[in-house]
Parts: sequence; C-alpha cells; structure tokens
Amino acid sequence: MSHHNQTLINQLYRQAKLDSSAFTLLLSSADEKDRAYAAKLARQVATDSFGRNIYMRGLIEFTNHCKNNCFYCGLRRDHRGLKRYRLNEHEILNAAAVAHAAGCRTIVLQGGEDPALTVSWVANLIRSLKRNWPDTAITLSLGERSATDYKTWFAAGADRYLLREETASPELYNHLHPPEMTLANRLNCLAALKDIGYQTGAGFLVGSPSQTAEDLAADLIFIQSFQPAMIGIGPFLPQADTPFGREKPGDPELTLFLISLLRLMLPHGLIPATTAIGTALPDGYQRAILAGANVIMPNFTPLQVRKLYSLYDHKREAGDSASSTDELFREINYRTVIDRGDFPDHYDRH
Ligand code: SAM
Ligand code: SF4
Repeated sequence: MSHHNQTLINQLYRQAKLDSSAFTLLLSSADEKDRAYAAKLARQVATDSFGRNIYMRGLIEFTNHCKNNCFYCGLRRDHRGLKRYRLNEHEILNAAAVAHAAGCRTIVLQGGEDPALTVSWVANLIRSLKRNWPDTAITLSLGERSATDYKTWFAAGADRYLLREETASPELYNHLHPPEMTLANRLNCLAALKDIGYQTGAGFLVGSPSQTAEDLAADLIFIQSFQPAMIGIGPFLPQADTPFGREKPGDPELTLFLISLLRLMLPHGLIPATTAIGTALPDGYQRAILAGANVIMPNFTPLQVRKLYSLYDHKREAGDSASSTDELFREINYRTVIDRGDFPDHYDRH
C-alpha cells in the first residue's frame, strides 16, 4: 500500500477536499491494498450514518421507449430490433402494490425519454401512488425535461429524481452522446431539480469507452461541489446492438473503489449497489455494500416485459427480488429495512 495513497484516503475521511491532480493520482495508482483500506473506512462511515441498514427502492421500469440515442444504451432510438413497451397506470399500480408488500417504502419510476409521457399523465400517476401509499417516497428517473415539468411533478408529490450526469467531462460526454445532447443541458437539469427541492441523484458510468483517470477525477470534483443526495454509479457494460457493442466493459473493482471514495466524500449520501455492479460480479451487490453503499433497488418490473429493458447484455435477473436480496445481505451481517430512507440532511419542502 502506498503511503501517499493512504494519506489521500485519510484526507477524504476527514472531509478534506482533494483537487483534480490528487484524485487522478489516487485513481491511477491505487492497488488492491489501497482499495481495501478505502473500503474499510467507507464501511465505517456508512455504519456511523446508517447502522447496518440497507434501504430498498422498488424499481419499476415502466417504459422502454426513448427518443434519445446515447451510444452506450440498448434503449436508444436506433435500436430498431427492440420491441417497445409502455405499462399503463393500472399495471404500474399493481407493480407498486407488490413492491410495497415486499417492504419497499420508495418506488422508483424509471424509463427512457418517452415522448408519450405527458406532464399531466405522470402527475396523475404520482398522485395515484401517493393516494394509495402515503407512507412511500416517489423517485422519478425520466431523463431531461423542462423545469416546469419537474415543478409540476414535485407539486404532485414526487420526492426524488435520479439523473446521472454520466460524465462531468464535456469531451467525454460528446464522445458518448450524439451532438443534440450536451453536458450543459444535463447539468442545468440537475441544478433545476435541486433548486426545486428534490432529493437529487447524480452519477456516472465507470469505464465508458475512452474514459481516463482525469475524467473520473472530474466526476469526483463535480460530486464534491454538487453534493447530491444520491449518487448512482456502475460499470459501463456493452450492449451488442449499440455503437459501443464491442467495447470492453468497465472495471468492477475500480467501480467499488469509487463507491468507497464517494462514501468518504458524502457520509450521508444514498449510494445504491446498482444492477450494473450486480451484473459485473457474482457477489457485486454484497461487495458494493462492503465498499460503502447503503441502498438496493429490487426490480418489480413485470416479468413479461423485464427482458425488454435491455440497457446492456446479460442484465442480472437473479438476486433481484426483495427476499433474495435480504438473504444476500444477511450473509454479510446487514439487513434491509422497511423505511423511506430519506437523505438525512434534506429539508422536506412538501
Ligand atoms: N432515460 C433516463 C436517463 O438516461 O437518465 C433514465 C433511464 S437510463 C436507462 C438509466 C441509466 O442507465 C443511465 O443513467 C445510464 O447511466 C445507465 N446505462 C445505460 N446504458 C448503460 C450501459 N450500457 N452500461 C451501464 N449503464 C448503462
Ligand atoms: Fe434513453 Fe436514458 Fe438510454 Fe440515453 S440512457 S438512450 S436517455 S434510456
């Protein structure tokens, strides 16, 4: 283990801010022992904040229609061979009932940027969910919309919004997206969401094609200044029908190290063990918790359509139900809890 890396990790633990060159050095030179050291401290920070509790978010992937063409994603509009689906309100409420019965007190409504989702349809859906389950938080993950739409949905009762910046480097962003998508728009959306009062989630892909240690350092600097309530990261995983179908996947070990660094930087942050890390490693969910994550997102998308939400190949199916994740975590002495799991520092403006 390098003394220098240990010093940098200790600085993060003490809540010091690092600059881009320090992050770059740490990311490019850390060895297995450095990573294990960061994971140990991160675990301690997570248990100081949350105990050994893991919050469950019931994920409903309710539409795979998307007007965008992100180069990495299997839902991109040019993936013509993909059968598209959109759940109706009744189907979504049924899935939410199953999630609630399984103990989830957060429902995550995620989808592609589906032009058929009108602002009022989504607002009505939010109101129906809140009427049925007033004890349950609603997280939206529906991509870039106008600030007016975001405000309407917040007023209808949505609590949180997930919108990963994907990368904080403008050059890499342009390499991963077609020209009509810009990092500036993405960051404007994130700023608007936070300003409106959402518990806002950011995050990035690890090991996306051409990504460098400097790019990842930029991601950490962005997170350090934006201070999101939630931060979701996962390795880039190729999907055969996309332009990046033959690129190599992101490194899961580097992803776990980044989870630890993020936990040190955001002691109260809500950090999921994402499906991508669960797909990349057989014990990925457990390793992510042991690296400092504290959230799991069991999938409640109806089985008939689940395979069609194909962001990347070999997306994990096993270990996706609430009961099997609970078992996984009991093995490492953590427990899933029936709790909304809000960001503790958040002032609830509802
Ligand atoms: N359409 C919304 C958006 O882009 O924010 C929400 C749904 S999108 C499918 C959710 C996340 O999936 C993205 O933020 C992206 O990071 C992740 N994703 C997409 N393709 C991926 C891939 N090939 N490997 C890993 N993660 C991927
Ligand atoms: Fe659409 Fe989101 Fe996939 Fe981009 S990442 S193509 S916006 S679903």
